[in-house]
Amino acid sequence: MSGFNFDVITLFPKAFELINNLGVITKALDKNLIDVNLHDLREYGEGSYRQVDDKPYGGGAGMVLKPEPIYKAYESIRKLPKSKTLLMTPQGKVLKQKDLARWSTLDQIIIICGQYEGFDERIRCLADEEISIGDYVLSGGEIPAISIINGLTRLLPGTLGDPDSLVDESHNSSLLEYPQYTRPLTFKDMKVPDILVSGNHEEIKSWRRKKSFERTLERRSDLISNENYKKSPQSKRIIKENNQFMKFRIGNGYDIHRLVEDRDLIIGGVKLHHPENLGLDGHSDADVLSHSIMDALLGALSLGDIGKYFPPSDEKWKNADSLFLLSKVIDLIRQDGWEINNIDSVLVAERPKIMPHIKLMKKNISEILNIDENLIGIKATTNEKLGPEGREEGISCHSVVLLEKK
Ligand code: SAH
Repeated sequence: MSGFNFDVITLFPKAFELINNLGVITKALDKNLIDVNLHDLREYGEGSYRQVDDKPYGGGAGMVLKPEPIYKAYESIRKLPKSKTLLMTPQGKVLKQKDLARWSTLDQIIIICGQYEGFDERIRCLADEEISIGDYVLSGGEIPAISIINGLTRLLPGTLGDPDSLVDESHNSSLLEYPQYTRPLTFKDMKVPDILVSGNHEEIKSWRRKKSFERTLERRSDLISNENYKKSPQSKRIIKENNQFMKFRIGNGYDIHRLVEDRDLIIGGVKLHHPENLGLDGHSDADVLSHSIMDALLGALSLGDIGKYFPPSDEKWKNADSLFLLSKVIDLIRQDGWEINNIDSVLVAERPKIMPHIKLMKKNISEILNIDENLIGIKATTNEKLGPEGREEGISCHSVVLLEKK
């Protein structure tokens, strides 16, 4: 039985001698689990100098690989039924573990290595996929090709002594691997966590899952936001268990109060004058801006709404200054270790004009919350005479906040 075939087109076949000294990969070669066939591009070069590169049309530094030698080398390769051709290029899709897993079920991978300043554009159409091994530029495609041969070979059955060692490792489940320890139990005062020597396999499993999640969150939180990962039932369970590690929370708040006679019109702690002498009705001072920000803050942490903390039935809050209530809410948020990233609010009022007062509203709110004014956005709009705000029956406000765990 012949093994998995790697066919590599390269100007530097000697670079691949490395795989004869790479442990597991070398063993796979010895056991014929893989075949690595090197196709020396020079042999397909043109003329007595076996030329493989030339100056780019239009000028510019360096040389690029010509198309003919690569096409000739490519055509000389016997294609197996399940075969894919990969072109090594920093412009390709960045290699992921799932790509290696996907390719491991094929019979053959053909790898084209570039050199110098790259290759003639017309080489691209030979490739099924263009692959980069990271956002940096190497001098040739040989090291990327060796990385692919290496990473793919260790996934093939029969290469690793213990196939289970593939199951838990980093990137398989989109999570990084948990910390590993081996003998001795204590080394330079660093002790192996007790749980790992407890013999309780269920607890060890759960500890590892937790560590794996924490580690990914600390080092590669980008992996956790990966959509596919979020869809898996396993991830839902882990996210629930580790809710306390969530770094950001968003909240939105909405409030509307009636415009009536004989009441002050207070918004964002600023006393405004309505042309008809109307003010906002409500149990406290009915400051819709402060109220909607409070609701957004509480909502972000799923703590309910202001009615829960300052019930209108409680005489204590009658005509209360909403900025004071806001100071109570932010204390609650900070107690739990959260900090405001930013706030964005929209006031909806037909009259009076809000714009001239926004600066002072921002100042009041930033002082109460003890955050920079730049983190607060306050906008105002009329409702084009539509709806309750448009008919001047009331004034409303929407707010969104983003909290970050400190
Ligand atoms: N000027 C080219 C880069 C040439 S680097 C460009 O900007 O796209 C020379 C060759 O090295 C490339 O053709 C490619 O085969 C290989 N190479 C360099 N960096 C690579 C990377 N990150 N991933 C895969 N191949 C790479």
